[in-house]
Amino acid sequence: MNNRLYGKLIFELSKEGRKGYSLPRNRFEGYEIPQEICRGQEAQMPECDEMTVVRHYTNLSQNNFGVDNGFYPLGSCTMKYNPKINEEMAALPQFQNLHPLQPDDTAEGARAVMVMLERLLCQLTGLQHFTFKPYAGAHGELTGLMVIDNYHRSQGEWQRKKVIVPDSAHGTNPASAAVCGLEIVEVKSTSEGLVDLVDLERLVSQEGPNIAAMMMTNPNTLGLFERQIPEITKLIHDCGGLMYYDGANLNPMLGACRPGDMGFDVMHINLHKTFSTPHGGGGPGSGPVGVREGLQPFFPVVSPYHGNFTVMMRALAYIMTLGRDHVKEVGPLATLNANYIKESLKDVYELPISGLCKHEFVFDGLKDKSTGVTTMDVAKRLLDYGYHAPTIYFPLLFHESLMIEPTENESLDTINGFIAVMRRIAEEAKNNPEMVKSAPHDTPIGRVDDVLAAKHPIVTYKQLINDAD
Ligand SMILES: *Cc1c(COP(=O)(O)O)cnc(C)c1O
Repeated sequence: MNNRLYGKLIFELSKEGRKGYSLPRNRFEGYEIPQEICRGQEAQMPECDEMTVVRHYTNLSQNNFGVDNGFYPLGSCTMKYNPKINEEMAALPQFQNLHPLQPDDTAEGARAVMVMLERLLCQLTGLQHFTFKPYAGAHGELTGLMVIDNYHRSQGEWQRKKVIVPDSAHGTNPASAAVCGLEIVEVKSTSEGLVDLVDLERLVSQEGPNIAAMMMTNPNTLGLFERQIPEITKLIHDCGGLMYYDGANLNPMLGACRPGDMGFDVMHINLHKTFSTPHGGGGPGSGPVGVREGLQPFFPVVSPYHGNFTVMMRALAYIMTLGRDHVKEVGPLATLNANYIKESLKDVYELPISGLCKHEFVFDGLKDKSTGVTTMDVAKRLLDYGYHAPTIYFPLLFHESLMIEPTENESLDTINGFIAVMRRIAEEAKNNPEMVKSAPHDTPIGRVDDVLAAKHPIVTYKQLINDAD
């Protein structure tokens, strides 16, 4: 890194007496702050001039990789194009300055946004009612499962506590079911990567009266369209269970088919995935839950206010910018891009499940296993070339999963550039495996110990000093 400020903490740049601000004259003279709420000693704050502060944080921000810096083919999480117009809409002061506790009749505009968005989501999904309260997909799953649990209890069917979850499911599915107090029953995948109907029939005949629901993601986390949904929904409905649709992968379905028409009763949508909003690092999100007619009385109270409003604002702007006709192009373009990458790389990366995928697909590491270069090494080496790594080691069905999702809006040039680099890394793995194994070489920090960082995070300056002592 060529910047001399790089690598220092703001505290280390501090010089006693330096200032980058001046406070306005005290307009409340004569008003004394009560002693008991004052600090006992001076706050330990860094003292820096304005330019040092600006440069420090600007440099830090440039060490971060985002979808605005470069290609970000993260599968399952859909870090997609976030049109800047959406940011402008979400930043309108009339919306930004709303308070969740202000009287409803002073927030009619915000209410109109939510009503319009609900109507559009109903049209796109074929379900009848949505709640916007959940703050993320996982929160939506919990909310949706609570709807299902409430419904079964209302029918006097207290014993319905089993939730069938495919072995390819995202980890939040079983986690949400567990948090909801339900029991997880895993259904296997076939060698083609789809739900194994024979295994499902076995589970249904064993557990029938105890089945609360089955959760499904479609296209599933391998990027494959589950072709047997009609058979599956019939099996589950016939034994009295409900169908839950994990809508994290809704984007390739937009305008083409609808979960409601396929027999799903409850679903969540990840507005921050399918309908834009940059969401790296865990937020912000919105996981509205939709239900078919008759289930809306069972919505639980999962948050005190109205949900993450500016994410809704971005989703509305995204859908309205595309319009009815163009929203249908999202799926085919994302699918084309994914298949193009898959076909261009499958001679050097191991493709465990061949055939057409939807918006994303999974490789099982490099084809040539003799080099010892792992998926982790490939992901780290990609950083040197200025690409964000794909999703790695998920789904758990393969040892060396490398899950690539290009989204619909990347240009052919960008995609070709990525393919060329992936091929080059495969070459390097053969000719100079040690170099790939020790990547990244060109990033501000080299390979970090993920486990140590998670187990022993150092998040305050003070702790750093204490640890040094
Ligand atoms: C991202 C994702 C979730 C969880 O959504 P969050 O918004 O991250 O909580 C659930 N299922 C699938 C398939 C996902 O990709």
